[in-house]
Amino acid sequence: MKPPPFAYHDPTSIEEVVDLLQRYGNEAKVLAGGQSLMPLLNFRLSYPSALIDINRVADLSYIQQEDGQVRIGALTRQRAIEFSQLVRSQLPLLHEATTLVGHLPIRTRGTIGGSLAHADPAAEYPTVTMALDAELVIQGPSGQRVVSAEEFFVSYLTTALSPNEVITEVRFSSSLPTSGWAFEEFARRHGDFAVVGVAAVIDTDGVQCRTARLAAAGVGPTPIRLRAAEYILEQEGITDQDIQNTADKAAELVQPDSDIHASADFRRHLTQVLTRRAIERAIERDRKRKRHERA
Ligand SMILES: Cc1cc2nc3c(=O)[nH]c(=O)nc-3n(C[C@H](O)[C@H](O)[C@H](O)COP(=O)(O)OP(=O)(O)OC[C@H]3O[C@@H](n4cnc5c(N)ncnc54)[C@H](O)[C@@H]3O)c2cc1C
Repeated sequence: MKPPPFAYHDPTSIEEVVDLLQRYGNEAKVLAGGQSLMPLLNFRLSYPSALIDINRVADLSYIQQEDGQVRIGALTRQRAIEFSQLVRSQLPLLHEATTLVGHLPIRTRGTIGGSLAHADPAAEYPTVTMALDAELVIQGPSGQRVVSAEEFFVSYLTTALSPNEVITEVRFSSSLPTSGWAFEEFARRHGDFAVVGVAAVIDTDGVQCRTARLAAAGVGPTPIRLRAAEYILEQEGITDQDIQNTADKAAELVQPDSDIHASADFRRHLTQVLTRRAIERAIERDRKRKRHERA
């Protein structure tokens, strides 16, 4: 299993990366952690004539707080995100989701930008960016643009990136509730891609839900935000029945396909079960945090 031949470039600035992408057009691929791209090349599922390795580009790997946002450089390794105190305190959902990405060696090389650009609908990071309304900063020949996660994911392994563009940063709002969160997923084996995953962020006043964010992975061509289900929690409440109604609505909202891993019906069933579990665990954490703050 060897990759097809390719030209190799290792530029040191983002401008050089964009120039090279421009020069090769559709024929080049950016190489970040290589954890998705290299298997595609080795299985001969992708034949780029050039790889543009961004690992020597300075200033693409960082996690910092700025202008009310947590900003993460595209080349930041998943392992760095897993161990970041800033991520743990400001984006606990992202922290929990990171622990579910593959195995340690994969997280040691894999990057947040690579995971988002690869756009596997079953992956954790795309789902977290949908749940948290993240923004992606994209650099191309005519400068920088910022797109929402919702606009970014277009279809299976397909994004709003043009062939001559590169992701440079991912931005999350710092004002998101941090008290109640959970990422629940069902995978065949530890470290496998999820068959279905559900991300939840919940903020309550103890009785009513002030904010609910729900998104699902593995249930269609892109991760999906479950807005009509969020609405039930925010409008009705957080009783057992409300949570069940929300989980039922989530299952109605998804349109999964059947594939070798699971039937569409099973994925819909998993969406219902995992939504319920994610909400319950998020509410439990929210209550615990608030009890702790009051004590
Ligand atoms: C055994 C195994 C198990 C895995 N399990 C999981 C899992 O459970 N959950 C999960 O989410 N992922 C999983 N992964 C994938 C892993 O998270 C990858 O690291 C990730 O999908 C790609 O990140 P990367 O940095 O390795 O990107 P690469 O493989 O280098 O690139 C992936 C794609 O993104 C493009 N790209 C990379 N960076 C940029 C950028 N900055 N701008 C524009 N385009 C870019 C590349 O051109 C390529 O098309 C698994 C991988 C393996 C091998």
